Amino acid sequence: MGRGQKSGRGGDELVFMALGGLGEIGMNVYLYGFGPENARRWLMVDLGITFPGEHEPGADVVLPDLRFIVGEKSALSGLVLTHAHEDHIGAVIDLWPSLQCPIYATPFTVGMLKSKNGEFGRNVRMPITQVPLGGRIDVGPFNVEFVTLAHSIPEPSGIAIRTPAGLLFHTGDWKLDATPLIGDSPDEAKLKALGKEGVLAMMCDSTNAMREGRSPSETDVARSLAKIIDNAPRRVAITTFASNVARIRAIADATQAAGRTLVVAGRALNRVIQVAIETGYLPESFTYLDQQRFPDLPSDKVVALCTGSQGEPRAAMARVAEDEHPDISLDSGDLAIFSSRTIPGNERAVAKVQNGLARRGVDLITDTDALVHVTGHPRQGELQEMYGWLQPRIAVPMHGEARHLNAHARLAKSWGAQQAVTVFNGEMVKLWPDPAGIIDEAPVGRLYRDGKLIVPDIEGPIKARRKLSFVGIVVVAMALSRRGDVLGAPEVVLDGVPLADEDGESMKEVVLDAVDGTLRSIPNKRRSDVELVRDAVHRAVRSAVNEAWGKKPVVKVLLTVVEARS
Ligand SMILES: [Zn+2]
Ligand SMILES: [Zn+2]
Repeated sequence: MGRGQKSGRGGDELVFMALGGLGEIGMNVYLYGFGPENARRWLMVDLGITFPGEHEPGADVVLPDLRFIVGEKSALSGLVLTHAHEDHIGAVIDLWPSLQCPIYATPFTVGMLKSKNGEFGRNVRMPITQVPLGGRIDVGPFNVEFVTLAHSIPEPSGIAIRTPAGLLFHTGDWKLDATPLIGDSPDEAKLKALGKEGVLAMMCDSTNAMREGRSPSETDVARSLAKIIDNAPRRVAITTFASNVARIRAIADATQAAGRTLVVAGRALNRVIQVAIETGYLPESFTYLDQQRFPDLPSDKVVALCTGSQGEPRAAMARVAEDEHPDISLDSGDLAIFSSRTIPGNERAVAKVQNGLARRGVDLITDTDALVHVTGHPRQGELQEMYGWLQPRIAVPMHGEARHLNAHARLAKSWGAQQAVTVFNGEMVKLWPDPAGIIDEAPVGRLYRDGKLIVPDIEGPIKARRKLSFVGIVVVAMALSRRGDVLGAPEVVLDGVPLADEDGESMKEVVLDAVDGTLRSIPNKRRSDVELVRDAVHRAVRSAVNEAWGKKPVVKVLLTVVEARS
């Protein structure tokens, strides 16, 4: 029992913790634990990824470090998925094998997970149970009820978790939208009923906690897009988040209303459209042409829906911008619409694509020019309404950076929560018995998908790569005889290091001089100590380059001892 807190009957406690998602927007992994400290049962909600920053060179995707729950995997009752965004399900296929627990999700989320699982010949066999919208299931000591909300993907569900200690509500990602274009509007009656039942704690989306007012409806965006496409004089290319099926629907409808034909470019969009048709979010009759047909269509009769709203260099929009797309090309007077928001960190990549289009005279419309995108997360007005319906005793802000979590916690108290607890990844909060507070800490961290492998952050290759990207590398290779005589001339390779110093002396000479001087300074008989020679050369080269350049490169000394032939 940490820090002498009270516990319930038999030492039972209800705890909450994140292995990702608290203090960042992305990589959501939440854990609920019930039972005595040494025998808790766990429920996991979501298992997502995040995207690497510029300080993580070469990493494809960032995955959460699950070592805490892997250590307790026999006590993990199941994984419940709130919706199919990558920051909530993106790590399932890579990391489920280390957990081996049952998975529960609604049909669209199951469809997306399976479709991704089938890609690239991967096929992890996972026990997935499909739960209907609004469905209710038992997962270990937790009774889990899916509650329909609105967001920017089909079937976002809040999770009502009934435990012997009380009722919790985990919102997942949500907003209020009475006219979400596809799917049901949020289940207000159910939310109010939960409030009447009495909510012990609500873990709630903080993404837009710093923004006042309410978010516009997806239907408002549809109307605005229809007008823009109808007025466009020539070709239109439009990009959006591939998983936003409502937006795809809006674009298809606007295309048809303008008497144009829809062309779809990009694997991610084709995959989502397929799953959306299978699960009934797009009609069976949903028609579009393959990108190859684009050149055949008159310039005022086509709309190309493209992947790549975040400036991804291999996606369709980036290739169109560079005029490298095999089928789709735009030129002066055509229109490109970014029906999306630029996720922080992607600004430069998106600007590159937009500049590529602008250079060729293509007109641009982004979310700063017109209502071509809405957020999928609640602003303060929607948050306040949710707090009014649920009236949780404890508020735990989630899905946010520190500033979002703090802003949300302050608001939650002003809206009647008795306690608002701001916690970060790895901090275990006791929700019951009273009072709520941090009682323990678990190890957390980041892993990387790096090509076909998963590698650690700490002491892994990404860290080494980051260092190389700043200072380059110097490799010195040489051979010594058993007696310590230098055989032949040392070889030097420099990569990512300036060619010459200020006075024009080549850096290679600087290195060779340092090697030479060091070898001379070591008495003959001590030169047979290979470690000593290697270390001395290493130190001398690093410091000589530092003197010439003002930076210390990565230095590798390859030393071979050649056996003398008798
Ligand atoms: Zn989401
Ligand atoms: Zn999210």
